[in-house]
Amino acid sequence: MNVCSVCGNEIRGHGFRYYGGRCACSDSCAHKLFFQEIIENKKDYAIIKGTVYKDGGNVESPRHPEWLGFEGRVHHIRYFNGKDVITNNLFYIAKVDDEYKDVLKDNAEFQWEV
Ligand SMILES: [Zn+2]
Repeated sequence: MNVCSVCGNEIRGHGFRYYGGRCACSDSCAHKLFFQEIIENKKDYAIIKGTVYKDGGNVESPRHPEWLGFEGRVHHIRYFNGKDVITNNLFYIAKVDDEYKDVLKDNAEFQWEV
């Protein structure tokens, strides 16, 4: 029997599978799991002006820049902890929901002068 990792309800049918094999029984539980994963791995994400991004890792001389995040556009991210990242492979993940604003505060900003 599959149980929703968010609300504990039994999942009939296939449910929704998410990161780490965790299941959610409904769209709203899947949404919570989605944010739970981001909260647990906060350090892997850049949160800028209430939007979550993930750096897929800069790709040197990409053959297919259109396959990269933002089609290979270069972003310069300055994390508030001092880390500076220039990447051509940044992905938009999500807008932070109001209910997660306190736990998912901005941790970085864009620097445009690359
Ligand atoms: Zn559920």
